Amino acid sequence: MDHFLYRDGILHAEDVAIPEIAAKVGTPFYVYSAATLRRHIGLFAEALDWADHLVCFAVKSNSNLAVLKLLGDMGAGMDVVSGGEYRRARAAGVSGDRIVFSGVGKTRDEMRLALSEGIRQFNLESEPEMRVLSQVATEMGVVAPVTVRVNPDVDAKTHAKISTGKSENKFGIPIARARDVYAEIANLPGLKAVGIDVHIGSQLTELEPFRQAYQKVAELTEILRADGHDITRLDLGGGLGIPYERSNSAPPLPLEYGQMVRETVGHLGCEIEIEPGRLVSGNAGLMVTSVIYVKEGEGQDFLIVDAAMNDLVRPAMYEAHHDIVPVVEPSPGQEKAQYDIVGPICETGDTFAKRRDLDRLQADDLIAFRSAGAYGAVMASEYNSRPLIPEVLVMGDQYAVIRARPTYEEMLGRDTIPAWL
Ligand SMILES: *Cc1c(COP(=O)(O)O)cnc(C)c1O
Repeated sequence: MDHFLYRDGILHAEDVAIPEIAAKVGTPFYVYSAATLRRHIGLFAEALDWADHLVCFAVKSNSNLAVLKLLGDMGAGMDVVSGGEYRRARAAGVSGDRIVFSGVGKTRDEMRLALSEGIRQFNLESEPEMRVLSQVATEMGVVAPVTVRVNPDVDAKTHAKISTGKSENKFGIPIARARDVYAEIANLPGLKAVGIDVHIGSQLTELEPFRQAYQKVAELTEILRADGHDITRLDLGGGLGIPYERSNSAPPLPLEYGQMVRETVGHLGCEIEIEPGRLVSGNAGLMVTSVIYVKEGEGQDFLIVDAAMNDLVRPAMYEAHHDIVPVVEPSPGQEKAQYDIVGPICETGDTFAKRRDLDRLQADDLIAFRSAGAYGAVMASEYNSRPLIPEVLVMGDQYAVIRARPTYEEMLGRDTIPAWL
């Protein structure tokens, strides 16, 4: 459920009409609903209310400081995968003891930053990383709390580019090696194992892969405890999918997910952490764009819009589907048309949707891409020298630009022509 509804035939974000924002900030832009973000993070907290828990928002899905502040103020922790994301979480007011650090390539500088400002835990992804963290923590005279991200060799049944829990993926340590790795951690200075971590992929639409992975984590917990390790925390990752197509059957709800977590690991008495990104931010955002031209091709009509693959790369990168709706609600009986919806970039990959049935549109009409709040703005680039598009946050009848569109001067000003040229 989200808060983007038609009122008197005009699409609104909560109580604000989309055309009003478009007139103020220009198209294209992202717009997020505070109420939807709050509702989604609350659903996870509710789903885990049977356990000690921390819901750590996956910052990589939407890292705007205003979004992080809103979620952090509701008590959310943060899952970060870089020093930049760590700094964002801190700048949004989240204390280090609510930040978990994931990612396969943490550098010494990133480790030092997190150890000096505070960290809930590092999720270790390899043995070389484990040894480097031991060195860094020892040099600093501190002890780093760690989990090991285990790779359970489970097929998440999602898109190959966002599947992470098979043995051929680069993530985590094979679960069969876990005993040896925890034994080494116990012998290394500067490290303290506090739990186990697992994350098998993104946009999962069934509970079964999660269930298989969590059962393996539960078994491992008992084995490691028998080996004498103090396993008190389970980080179960993110990955619960969202309905990108309204017409399709919906993925499981957070409540059902929480019930499955309870069934698989509830008996262990561990503190539960989860790292949802997409389910919190995805349906809390739209990308709004306007039609530049309607181009009638041979057998195919094109809507050429002012957003492009650099602004929202998911369709080009993952063949992802976004529902696309007109901002002015079509009246019944309005003439239909079928369009390929494309951006202005000089690549055929700059195609958002093919053969999409919409009501007949004209130049300057506004359309909205749904489910664009996750992996949208964060993956944007300035390819074709198109400035990053603004982000807007709506709360009730208020709205604010939370990342401004850079001016061309700012964009060009980042380059330097050397004096010797
Ligand atoms: C990407 C990622 C997440 C978030 O995944 P979603 O599908 O957005 O919920 C959580 N944890 C880790 C380690 C990730 O890499």
